[in-house]
Amino acid sequence: MTEEFREALARWYDQHHRDLPWRKTRDPYRIWISEVMLQQTRVSAVLPYYQRFLERFPTVEALAAAAEADLLAAWAGLGYYSRARNLQRAAKQIVAQGGFPRHYDQIRALSGVGDYTAAAIASIAFHLPYAVLDGNVMRVLARLDNDPSDITASATRKKMQQRVQQLLDPDEPAKFNQAMMELGATICLPKQPQCGQCPVQTWCEARHQGTQNQLPVKGRKQRSLQIERVLLIVERKGAILLWRRGPESPKLQGFWELPEAGQLPSAKLGKPLGEFRHSIVNHNYRVFVVPATLTKTPAGFQWLEPSRLRRAPLSTMARKALALAGRAL
Ligand code: SF4
Repeated sequence: MTEEFREALARWYDQHHRDLPWRKTRDPYRIWISEVMLQQTRVSAVLPYYQRFLERFPTVEALAAAAEADLLAAWAGLGYYSRARNLQRAAKQIVAQGGFPRHYDQIRALSGVGDYTAAAIASIAFHLPYAVLDGNVMRVLARLDNDPSDITASATRKKMQQRVQQLLDPDEPAKFNQAMMELGATICLPKQPQCGQCPVQTWCEARHQGTQNQLPVKGRKQRSLQIERVLLIVERKGAILLWRRGPESPKLQGFWELPEAGQLPSAKLGKPLGEFRHSIVNHNYRVFVVPATLTKTPAGFQWLEPSRLRRAPLSTMARKALALAGRAL
């Protein structure tokens, strides 16, 4: 999955990314300035400041030597003046070191540079394999994994940092990082994510479960997700149609599942047989069980005879649905 995910994301980024000035350079100084300006400030607000700032201080040496009044005048309007002061402090460190550091730890050690900025500079300017994690990326990850963890908790941040590091394309870290952030900024929006246009919708668990508008969760208490599902009982000569989970579902790999209505758009649905509730950690499911008929066997599904059905590992949800449908196992 990971390789295909990276390719789909990279293809989309190549075709759709916004043309921004800091995307046309690999100069660590320019990338650093853009990343600091973009912290807590919108892209459209940053654009004029970025150009003017670099005209005024075109090199790290110029920034290090600037008078504080000039620096603050160039920053005026962007707010958060501590960012400008830290920039100059770090510029002086860089000049004292004889040039921009080229290793992650050295970049991270600069004044005012945190994990995010260090990973952004390391990956974009030096092509080092460090994944960035900002609010946009966290939102995308929470939805991809249908993860209801509180994104303001440091444990969640740590978990997500590991997750995005796993997903990172080590051959194209700059493109991967920028693509994840761009996806969050333009498609996987906080409200009304544009899932129909999303290049990674195939791998998005929240989209499959219909929970994307409930995620990410922000706040101390972990909330539970309310999810509705429609499971189909499709029968042919006593055999039941099922599909088997592969390595993309590590926790349930090898288990058999009943089809969901969304997987079989050509199925003819009958009257619901009933519903049941099922909970897994913070996911509360309301499951409707509906009989259906099909004219052709769809790809990826198999018919299981009663004897095989009894021996097959079934997910609890499939087992409950079959019991409700009167198929005692
Ligand atoms: S499918 Fe929708 S929710 Fe999932 S990552 Fe894409 S835009 Fe976000």
